[in-house]
Amino acid sequence: MKTSILVFGSHEFLATLPDQIHDASTFNLKVSIDFNQAVLHIQIVQPDVIFVQASCQDSIRVCRWLKEQNQLSWIHCILLEDRPQQLIDKSLSSWEWEFEMMANALNQGADAYIWLLTEETNNRLTTATKILILSQLTVGVRKVKKYRELMNTNDILSAIALADSLTDLNNRRALEWDLPRQINKARSQDTPLSLIILDVDFFKKVNDQHGHLVGDRLLQLLCSRLRHNLRSQDTAFRYGGEEFVVLLPHTNGDEALTVAERLNRIVREQTFAINSQLHLQITISLGVAILQPDDDEKGINLLHRADQCLLAAKASGRNRVITWGQYSQASSLETVSGISRGMGV
Ligand code: GH3
Ligand code: MG
Ligand code: MG
Repeated sequence: MKTSILVFGSHEFLATLPDQIHDASTFNLKVSIDFNQAVLHIQIVQPDVIFVQASCQDSIRVCRWLKEQNQLSWIHCILLEDRPQQLIDKSLSSWEWEFEMMANALNQGADAYIWLLTEETNNRLTTATKILILSQLTVGVRKVKKYRELMNTNDILSAIALADSLTDLNNRRALEWDLPRQINKARSQDTPLSLIILDVDFFKKVNDQHGHLVGDRLLQLLCSRLRHNLRSQDTAFRYGGEEFVVLLPHTNGDEALTVAERLNRIVREQTFAINSQLHLQITISLGVAILQPDDDEKGINLLHRADQCLLAAKASGRNRVITWGQYSQASSLETVSGISRGMGV
């Protein structure tokens, strides 16, 4: 991949930079002297390195803006000093003054500060200055490459941390992260949010009769079937062993009941082919709840209601869906209303 460079300065200034920077086979080079245009380019292209011409009106503004951007501050910013050296404070020696200028540039957001020395005869950059510019470019490219690698690793680690290794579904940690966000979103957009919790019926028997490996395979097949039968907006999580949660944004109680009944049906109606000899039939029980205005922001109340419905579905015979509305109304279910389980989210 080519290194991308932005020169914030004039075309004349660009022309003075070392020839290597102009090599189109190595670098994607863009030049701009307009602050807003440069900002737009940085946001869209995310160049690896920015050279800033110090004599430009907005030079320090660009450096400062860049380092204030959380998502962009990794871009290597090199401030190139092309202003004539004028000692204002006569008490300072030349190098003290240069150090002060450098400290100031670094404090304002530049990652490097290079004094552009020119030949007296032709006003071109000295060879040493060119070498220094190219060295700083190498430093920037190296640093940015490491940063990009780190970000890739970070993405992979986040995906691993939030995925269930057996089923590839989002895990409980992912639910704990996502549920409060979904609740917040639903409330700020004034849209309904529903939650289904489901559990495989008599799963222990599968393990006992066929062994844990078959149980594992069954869970994988079940998850795949659930996932393929959810709408794109819905997200499934493995909540515990053979227990799953589905979050349904923009979904009211009636719609959530329809989804839950469909899940119940697609599990019940077709067996799971563990291998060519072994096909297993299972059922699931499901509880459905919808977010209420006085629910807590983490989702503990919502999960708890759905879980009570699940327990009611188990207690009343399994292989069925119970909604919170049915649960709280049906007098026949009052016998299980006292059951509660510790909800961790
Ligand atoms: P119920 O209908 O009441 O839910 O009965 P059940 O047998 O499904 O429930 P129970 O809680 O008694 O047993 C759940 C079983 O699920 C016990 C546990 O060993 C098994 N289990 C949990 N996680 C896994 C897993 O990752 N792989 C396998 N093979 N089994 C698992
Ligand atoms: Mg079970
Ligand atoms: Mg269970």
